[in-house]
Amino acid sequence: MRWCQGYSEPGAGSDLAGLTTRAEDTGDYFLVNGQKTWTSGANLADWIFALVRTDPDVPKHDGISFVLMDMHQPGITVRPIRLISGASPFCDTFFDDAVAQKEDLVGKLNQGWTVGKRLLQHERSSGLRVTAGAGASRRKSGDPMGELAKKYLGETEGKISEPAIRDMVLKHRMKQRSLQLTQARAREENQSGRVPAETTSIFKLVGSTLTRESADLQTRLMGFQGFGWDGDQFSEEERTATRSWLRSRAVTIYGGTNEVQMNIISKRVLGLPD
Ligand SMILES: Cc1cc2nc3c(=O)[nH]c(=O)nc-3n(C[C@H](O)[C@H](O)[C@H](O)COP(=O)(O)OP(=O)(O)OC[C@H]3O[C@@H](n4cnc5c(N)ncnc54)[C@H](O)[C@@H]3O)c2cc1C
Repeated sequence: MRWCQGYSEPGAGSDLAGLTTRAEDTGDYFLVNGQKTWTSGANLADWIFALVRTDPDVPKHDGISFVLMDMHQPGITVRPIRLISGASPFCDTFFDDAVAQKEDLVGKLNQGWTVGKRLLQHERSSGLRVTAGAGASRRKSGDPMGELAKKYLGETEGKISEPAIRDMVLKHRMKQRSLQLTQARAREENQSGRVPAETTSIFKLVGSTLTRESADLQTRLMGFQGFGWDGDQFSEEERTATRSWLRSRAVTIYGGTNEVQMNIISKRVLGLPD
């Protein structure tokens, strides 16, 4: 069974609580009308979990509910969004008198914001993988970026030839290692009963920034070869690197943008004034 996440709307992304997709209580079930966007995998999904407005007359966070809906029903239409890469990993999702069963309300009526927020914390803490770029991460070495630099820029006595590049690769590796150690510590704390909270925004922010930096560095090391799209002059690894670089732009957006994570960290972790 495949699921998709119906949070974002054309007018509600970072300001998610401003969502307007309505769910009206008909007595037996909820009737849902509105639109979600950027719904990853909606074209393949069997079910959607969605945040919907069930009370428009209260402060925005207090009128939202969390419902599950069967995607195989006449009231739901999915339109894949085509990207620059040619792929369509996510969709516009339309609800026209779609039905959400009463038993598929998660948590209490109008308290869905808490459920949705909690799920986002899990997404932010677990969805990230710090990679050295798709091509580089497939290598067996413990230092894939260093290996890549040597391949494209040459090596002297076992070291990357250019000191400035060596410095860049080393600093990047140190940042990755610091994040991995911090993640490992957080995992240990979770096993002892603590659960992810606002601090997961730190992992999202640092992890997604590093993923982007990895892709940037990788294409930079490859030089012109790092911008291959098709044709025999580019290896498969180089073509993959180009696509990874394009894809890496998304990681600082989905699950809440970097700016949103910084807002959460300042307010909820550091306690700075709103
Ligand atoms: C690959 C990918 C997959 C996705 N999958 C899903 C999915 O499955 N389900 C789903 O519901 N959504 C999904 N999304 C949507 C994603 O959650 C939103 O794109 C994201 O929350 C940002 O919202 P927005 O696109 O409306 O941008 P906006 O909110 O319009 O932001 C535009 C810019 O303004 C900045 N900004 C906005 N508010 C503030 C503020 N208060 N302070 C500082 N800066 C601010 C943002 O950081 C950003 O740079 C996906 C997005 C991507 C890229």
